[in-house]
Parts: sequence; structure tokens; C-alpha cells
Amino acid sequence: MKLALQKKTKIVATISDHKCDVEFLQELYETGMNVVRINTAHQTPESSMKIVENVRKVSTKIGLLVDTKGPEIRTTVMADEAGFNVATGDTVKVAGNPDALSSSEMLYVSYAGFVNDVPLGAFVLIDDGDVQLKVTDKSSNFLLCEVMNGGTLKGRKTVNVPGVAIRLPSLCSRDVEYIRWAMDNNIDFIAHSFVRTKDDVLAVQELLNERKSRIKIIAKIENRQGVENIDEILSCAYGIMVARGDLGVEVEFEEIPGIQKMLIEKCLACGKPVIIATQMLHSMIAHPRPTRAEITDVANAIYQRTDAIMLSGETAGGAYPVEAVRTMSKIAIAVEKDLQPRGHQPNVGINDKVAIVLSKSAVQASRELPLRAFVTDTYSGRVPRYLAAFRGKIPIFAFCYLDALTRELSLSYGVYSYPAAPLRNNDEFLRYAIRFLRDQGCLGSSDMVAVMAGNYYFKGATTYLEIGIVQNLISEINQEAYYAS
Ligand code: PEP
Repeated sequence: MKLALQKKTKIVATISDHKCDVEFLQELYETGMNVVRINTAHQTPESSMKIVENVRKVSTKIGLLVDTKGPEIRTTVMADEAGFNVATGDTVKVAGNPDALSSSEMLYVSYAGFVNDVPLGAFVLIDDGDVQLKVTDKSSNFLLCEVMNGGTLKGRKTVNVPGVAIRLPSLCSRDVEYIRWAMDNNIDFIAHSFVRTKDDVLAVQELLNERKSRIKIIAKIENRQGVENIDEILSCAYGIMVARGDLGVEVEFEEIPGIQKMLIEKCLACGKPVIIATQMLHSMIAHPRPTRAEITDVANAIYQRTDAIMLSGETAGGAYPVEAVRTMSKIAIAVEKDLQPRGHQPNVGINDKVAIVLSKSAVQASRELPLRAFVTDTYSGRVPRYLAAFRGKIPIFAFCYLDALTRELSLSYGVYSYPAAPLRNNDEFLRYAIRFLRDQGCLGSSDMVAVMAGNYYFKGATTYLEIGIVQNLISEINQEAYYAS
């Protein structure tokens, strides 16, 4: 069986237009990739088109995720492309002007309000913290900084100011352009960077609402404000990404494991998907085998019950992209065997309580009966997501009445989705779904399955749980003859 069909943890792979041919994407898909991430920091809408077209040639079930810039700051382009070196103890002047060229005379950053927002004594970390500056003096035009650890200052590198609230707007013009492009091209997820409060999520949602788009928002949690405001952020985002790259610079690095664990718990508690990102298999950018620490990091995220794990440079430009996806799949298959279902109750609104109680009962049944799969139909993705939140040990086969749902569920643990045309009645759904799965080789005639569906014809009407053997569930009984006998 293909690796992709054996694991439940989803894999997000970052793809660049430099390497996105159909054969390559097909190989990644068969090896376990579920979602393709387009990082807008390194693409244009035009170059992204090639990725989207090729992904769709491979499968219409692969989710497409566009990662915005968000309220981030970078150094501007250098007058001398090589940048300039600074040594510990040197002083550097820093100013905000997105259009100015940086040089050793003045290091410019992309946010005009930088000097205003950053106080005396703050630390300014450049290029993921490789160069650390401390603000020692401030004029209205620039910050005077002491170099705390030296290195090379280059153009377009990340700038972080830990613990300082930066008053950049939620969306820059480039984000707006990209989100409109995403709507035009039926993209499935917007992963919005540097989400600080629910207002950052709502700003994206407002743009999506203008065109009644169903694109789902993933809030990237990558600074302290985002961590502290996680409850309000989760109340309006579809899911989150634990973006450990920037997070590792914005908070003390020793806080990351605890924050990751807490954020996964929060998502499980409300049945929303969570992605663990960055440097999961970093050494595989250059080497064919992962380090022991990387294997353990991937495994721990799965033990903590993440929905998805992500690859960045490993698949976007690394020398061993297929090996990296295969490594994640193999670790996932091994760890998932070791996991037990969760007994917790996702904390959702009263309207969803029936679906939750039925999902919990189905997963509980899978502990006491030799069930092979959960089977459900869905208009909204809700029931498969709730089933996923209980983290059962068997697959969730979700039949989706909207094509977009087959891709939205690409981020949810243990869900395998299929398109389904609306059927006349519930009996028809049950027979159609079970037969389809049997014909695909996913189920055998004597397998026991749990079906969750509804007897009424409106959305949100999951009303029953039925447990039975495949051949009985699909047998055609002549009811008159049966009752006459
Ligand atoms: C991160 O910071 O971990 C991340 C995923 O974001 P980006 O790759 O956009 O820096």
C-alpha cells in the first residue's frame, strides 16, 4: 500500500516554482504529501500559477495553502548585494524606509514606523537572530544600535523585535493582491503570518467576505502576542500553524516546546486543525538521512497529537525532497501505532453537540469492537473534523458534497476524503459509500464499520451512528419477501 494511504498525520510541503514539475509533485503525493504551501515571500502570483496548475494535474484532493507576508519586517535591498560585516561592539544605525537601499551607513528596514515603535533598550534580531543589535540611543530619524553578536548584514532578511508590539497594519498591499489572486484561483487556505490578535484574522476574513469566498484562514502563531491571544484567535480562525522559525526568535527558545504543546491542546479542545512547522527535517536540505534529534522532534509533534507537520526548505529547494516526505510518513506510521484515542470532549457550541456525542461514541466503539473505519458524509467538514479531534486509530472516510471540502479536509488528522454527488436518501448514501470503499480495496466484505450520517435533508443534520458488517450494510433485501417469511 502507498505510504500516503497508511498514515493519518497530514504533511504540508512547501513548493517553489523552481521545482514543481508534475512528476515531482506526483512522487511527493504518493509518498505522503497532502497540502502544498506557496510561500509568497519567495513567489509572485504569476510564478505561483505554475505550481497551482501542476498540483491540480496530480490530484484535485491536494490542498493549496498560500502563506502571506503579514505584518512582518525585513531589511531592505542592499546597495552592495553581498551586504556588510559587523563585529560585536560595533555600532549600526537603523531606520525605517521600505524604498531606501541599505548600506553600512544606514541599515533600512521595510516598516516606516520602526524608529517610533521600538524603544531604547530593545533587542533587534536580524536574519533569524544571527545578528543581534541593542538599541542604545534614539533620534527621530534613526536608532543607534550596539552589535551584541556580529555577522553579515544582508538585504531582505527577517527583522524581529521580541516583546515589542509593532503597529504595522494586518495586511500589506502585497498580501491584499495575493489574497485576491487566491480567491480568483480557488485556493483552499490562507496562512496569515504574524497574527497578533483576532483583528488580524478578521482583516483577512473581511477581504474574503467581499467575494463570499470559502477560503479557510490558518493563523500563523509566531510571536508572543499571538501566543497570549490564542483563545480569541482560535475563535475566528479555521486552524493555526505553530511557526517555530519566527517564534524561536520572538520568544526565548526554551519556551518553544511548552508553547507548541499548549497550542496543540488548544486546537484539540475546539476540534480545529494545527500544523507544526519549520526545521522539522532541516538537515535533509543537504543530507539524505535525518538527524536523530529531527526524528524525535517529528515523532513528538505526533505524540502531542498534531494534525499536520510541515516541510519548508526541505521540499522547496533541498536536495532530498522526496526522502524528506518519506521520512515524515515513516515516522508518522510508526508513532500512530502507539497512540490511543483521546477521551476529551471538544468544546463547541450547543448546535454541534449531537455531532460531538456521536463522534465520541464512534471512537469509543472503535476501542471495544474490531472496527476498520469510520464512514461519514459532510456538507461542512464538521463531523470528520470532530471525529479527527478524538484521534481514533482507524481511518475516517469522508464523502463530501462540495469538491472544496475534499481539499479542506487535507489538513485534518486521519481523514481520507472523496467527492460525492448528493443522493436521494440516507440509505442510498450508506450503500454507495460502503460499496465504493469496498471496490477501492479500502474495506473487505467482512469488515466492521461505523457509519455516521443524517436522516434529514438539511445541513448539520448528523443524527445517527450505525455499526455493521460491510456485506450486511450493502445487501439488497427484498423487504416484502423478508417480512412475509
Ligand atoms: C516560520 O516562521 O516558522 C514560518 C513557517 O514562516 P516563514 O517560513 O514564512 O518564515
